[in-house]
Formats: sequence, structure tokens, C-alpha cells
Amino acid sequence: MSMTAAQPGTLAGLAGSPPRVLVVDDEQHMCDVCARTLRRAGYEVATATDPRAAVDALRGELSFDLLLTDIKMPAMSGLELAHIARERDPAIAIIIMTGFASMENLHQSVQRGVADFLSKPFELEQLRLAVDQALYKRSVLQDNLRLRALEQIHRTSETLGTMLDLGALTTALLDAALRQTGCRVGFVLRALSPTRLGAPTPSVADAALLAAGQQLALRAMHQPALLTAEGAAFAQSAGRELRVALAAPLRAQGAVNGVLVLCDDRASAFPPGVQEEIALVANYAGSALRNAALYGQLTDAYVRLQELDRLKSEFIAIASHELRTPLSIILGYTMMLRDQQTDEQRNYLLRVIESAKRIKDIVDDMVSLRHLEMGEEQLRFEPCDAGELVAQVADRLHAAAAERRHTVRLELADTPLRFYGDGEKVRLMLVNLLANAIRFTPEGGEIVVRAARTAQAPEGAGRIILPAPPSSPPGPWVQFEVQDNGIGIPEREQARIFDRFYQVADSLTRDHGGTGLGLAVVRELIITLNGMLWLTSAEGQGSTFAFALPELPAERAERQR
Ligand code: ADP
Repeated sequence: MSMTAAQPGTLAGLAGSPPRVLVVDDEQHMCDVCARTLRRAGYEVATATDPRAAVDALRGELSFDLLLTDIKMPAMSGLELAHIARERDPAIAIIIMTGFASMENLHQSVQRGVADFLSKPFELEQLRLAVDQALYKRSVLQDNLRLRALEQIHRTSETLGTMLDLGALTTALLDAALRQTGCRVGFVLRALSPTRLGAPTPSVADAALLAAGQQLALRAMHQPALLTAEGAAFAQSAGRELRVALAAPLRAQGAVNGVLVLCDDRASAFPPGVQEEIALVANYAGSALRNAALYGQLTDAYVRLQELDRLKSEFIAIASHELRTPLSIILGYTMMLRDQQTDEQRNYLLRVIESAKRIKDIVDDMVSLRHLEMGEEQLRFEPCDAGELVAQVADRLHAAAAERRHTVRLELADTPLRFYGDGEKVRLMLVNLLANAIRFTPEGGEIVVRAARTAQAPEGAGRIILPAPPSSPPGPWVQFEVQDNGIGIPEREQARIFDRFYQVADSLTRDHGGTGLGLAVVRELIITLNGMLWLTSAEGQGSTFAFALPELPAERAERQR
């Protein structure tokens, strides 16, 4: 088996080397005269007096730009030779030398794309002129063919670039490569690691890549370079062994993502121009393959993430359900006992009750979140007083704030701020926000809770977590704010803290306790109530969480239940 690695720009005549001419005539003298004349004109010339030697030369590794052949030779006619030359290179220039040109000869010559006829005897100047012109036509034809090939490659690259499904991409690549080369079969082998290739995917079901083909693919991967080889049985298809092969690595960002193998039984299947085209297609395919593989990984990760999310929800559902009943029993009995004990015992019991209440808050968060996410949360609209709600919440968390020696100030309107809304939900949100302000502010901090009515949809300061919903009424709105001068939240974390279980400090280094559910509950509640939510925070300076709810007329609120 012989094997060659493609060198870039090996197209004869294009790489700056002189054009190559093959002169074939059964008369040695004729060969010599033509060769001498053309060499003097600067061409590289090979000669053959036997057409069979010329066939070998045409099928060999050297490519010729022009075939100058006698028409009538004992072993083979010049027209047959022209046919063989065209098979190998559709753009090769051909000049026929003849003693007499019959109509039949002329007709066949035109069919074979013969550029010119030279009637023997001819002037040497005539020969030079004919060769110059034929080579000029060849270069134009070559440019045309290259342009068409590039157009095809461009279309292929566009198709491949938009495909994200690995199976469809492999099929499209094989189709394109076979169309481009006219080969019998092709295979794509995806890289499993930098040194291993997976099983070959064939262009037709009955094709098999044999051991020599697989070795060639591995070599193309390791070098990495486009390789051609012939002699061994590389593949089998429709009961035939294919002994000419090309393997092109599919590269992207320095890594080989796979190898394309093309197999055929024509010795001239991969002339240098075709190799260049396949190298280009392989380049595009390498990137497309990488994108498709990344997309596949992303889809898998997304599916896994969804499953994890489902498991989390399941866990919340089970845990909250199983904790609720025993917790109610603990709270019920301890409260009963509290009233019957001595002062000291009552003190202990108060601590038990306090701790049990904290567990109850967590369980309540879990239950609310689940109901909100399932769209099962019931809204209970009633006449509310914003000032009263704020005062109740401050009262409930008074002990916790006092323990950390915080000052909690309420900034409320002089007149009662009455509105129609779900007071229980507003209380729950305020509890979560105030409890956070208390926990995430160093001792002796200042916390302000505000409530105000605004005539128009308020334009919140800072980061908008939830903008006004498109269907929201123009106003009025009831707005609440909890401001602290605590540790603040880094910019990069501000959107994420509203995710379930998300906490800025991880559970090992955290010293504030908590479950990471509070803000997720707030966010879901705001969505349910058609409200808006903002956060303004700077690390080390403090945070302000603000939310606004559309104020509904009583009859509309009734309808929203
Ligand atoms: P939890 O408070 O139970 O951890 P949350 O969902 O209420 O859960 O809050 C999530 C995270 O957001 C907190 O762990 C904390 O890192 C951050 N955070 C919330 N409120 C504040 C605040 N007022 N100041 C600083 N960080 C806060």
C-alpha cells in the first residue's frame, strides 16, 4: 500500500512551478523535437513513445497540465489517452497531433474537450503558440471548476453549521463529501478520546470499513493530516473491495473531533484539487461536529437538571408533609404545659416553643413554595391596612431584632393606608424580608420598614427582579420596603438569591442559618399577586428589598380569587 500526505497548494501550475507537459508519440524523433522546443519555452516535459507508459504517467503521482499526443499509435489511440487523462483531471489541456483529421476524429476530439489540433508537419513556433493558448484555457477552466467547487463547499458549510443533531450532521457530511468527490462510500468516525475513534458510520448500510481503512483513519487522527492511500482493501461495499482511500481529520480548536474516510476503486479518485476541497469541508465539519457534541451535552445536562429539580420538589413535598403533623402536636402540647408549670419550667418550655415555631416557619415556607409553584395557592382578598401589617410583622420579630440589638424603625403615612389585598401573603413576605434584614446585619444595625401608596406604577431603584406585569393596572400601587445597613449582597449574586435553596455563603462557611427558601417564596408570591420586586444592595453597605402590589377595587379583587 502506498500512502501520501497532502501538501497544501500542490495543484500543478498553481504553486509557482512551471507547467508540466506530457508528450506522447510513437516516433522517438517527434517526442524529442517537441520536448526540446517546449523545454526551451520554460515548460517541464516528460515524453513517452508507448501510450501504455503514458497511461501510467497520467495515473501516477505527478500531475500534468497538458497532454500533447499523436492520434494514431499502435497500442492505443491518442483519443483514448485523452479520455483517460480527462478522467484523472477534468481540466487538463489536450492537444492532438495528426497527419490528417477526419470528421469522425474531429467529432470525438470535441467530445473529449481537445483544445487544439496540430497538423503534421507543423512549425515549432506553431507548437509553442498552441501550447500557450491551451494552457491559458486550462487555467480559466480550472478557475471555473474551483469556483464551482467553492460554491458547493460554501453551501455545505452553511448546511453543516446550522445542524445540531449529530446523526443528521454525519449524514449531511457524508452526502456532501460523496457529492464533491464522486466516491463510492464514505465513513465518519467520531473521536472518543484524543487517541481513540468510535465505530464508523457508513454512507450506505452495506458498506464496511476494513482494518486497513480503520488504521488509515487512526493515522490521520494522530498526525493529524489528510492522508491518501491505495493498494490495500480499505472498505467493502456491494461485494466489492475498495482499494483507494482518503482520510481527513475533522478538527476544531486544535482538537480532532472525528475522521472522515472516503473509499473508491478509481486510482484517480483524489487528485490534489479534490483533496484541497475535502480538507475545507473537513474543517467546517470539525467545528459543526464540536457544536453538535456540545449541544448534545447541554441537552443532557438540562434533562438531568430538570430531573434534579423534580426530585427537589418531591423532597420538599414529602418533608413538609411529614413534618407538619408532628410539629403541630409538639407545639400544641408544649403550649398546654406552659400554662401549668413553674416559672423556671415555663422558661424552658418557651424556648422549646420558640424553636418549634422556627421549624414551623421553615415548613410553612416549603409548603407555600410548593403550592405557589404548582399554581395551587389560594388568594384570600380582604380589606387590609398596610401600617397594621407592618406593625404586626415588626412586633412578631421584635425579640429577634432585640437579641441582635438592632433598631427597627417604621416609616408609615400619617393616615391609615387601607387597601384590598391578601393580607396574609403580604405579612409572609414582610416576615421573610425583615427576618433576613435582622440576620444579615451585624449587631446594632439600623433597619427601616416603609409602606406607601403611589398613584402610578412605581419605578423602583436598583435591580429589577420582577418588572410590572403587562396586564397590570396603571395604579394606584401599595409599596413596601425593608432597608438594612447590613453585609449587603455582591452584584453577581443579586439575581440568584431568589432561586430556591440559593445562599450567598455556602452551607459550610455560613454562620447565619436559614434554608435559602425565603426569597424564593417572596418572588413566587409577587408573581401570583401580579406585583413588582426590586433589590438595591452594595456589599458591606446594606440592602433594600422593595415590592409593590397593584391596589385592586374590591369587586375586581373578588373576581381574582
Ligand atoms: P435564607 O435567608 O434562609 O438563607 P433567603 O432565600 O431568604 O434564604 O435568602 C437567600 C440568601 O440571600 C441568603 O442566604 C443571603 O445570602 C442573601 N440575603 C437575603 N437577604 C439579605 C440581606 N438583607 N442582606 C444580605 N444578604 C441577604
